[in-house]
Amino acid sequence: MDDQQIIDHINSLASEEHLLFNRESEGKVSPEERERLRRIEVTLDQAWDLLHQRRARRNAARPRDRRRVPGMSAETCSHLDEVHLDVAPSGDGCKECLEIGDIWVHLRLCMSCGHVGCCDSSKNKHATKHHRATDHPVIRSFQPGEDWFWCYPDQLMFELD
Ligand SMILES: [Zn+2]
Ligand SMILES: [Zn+2]
Ligand SMILES: [Zn+2]
Repeated sequence: MDDQQIIDHINSLASEEHLLFNRESEGKVSPEERERLRRIEVTLDQAWDLLHQRRARRNAARPRDRRRVPGMSAETCSHLDEVHLDVAPSGDGCKECLEIGDIWVHLRLCMSCGHVGCCDSSKNKHATKHHRATDHPVIRSFQPGEDWFWCYPDQLMFELD
């Protein structure tokens, strides 16, 4: 599978997810459809991770300057001064999910303030909600072994040395 196939896969899953979400909000889904929806969410998350990992590997193969984003000049994040690599994480789990006793799929770390929040495949999406509430632009994966960053305003994934 090349990246475009993965992206097509993600898009088709996302539109099916959207359809099922709408039906669920109208109370029209069967138990089978609810199960299908749950499986789509897991598969979507795996597809995203695959894409992220492939991009991260490709970027890692290029020479990297310190604190400079790899890739073409058009693909740069203008928020690196808000990336604090030594930021102290708010905890070992999603801050809000821990407070309400909920669960998450993957964790993201806010590079402005250290907020740890759950990913967009988690039902609460606290990392993205934190970005919307604060305008803090950049998160990184808080999963062990993953070192990619994501800039919300630039919609850009990158790695730093
Ligand atoms: Zn940026
Ligand atoms: Zn959460
Ligand atoms: Zn933050």
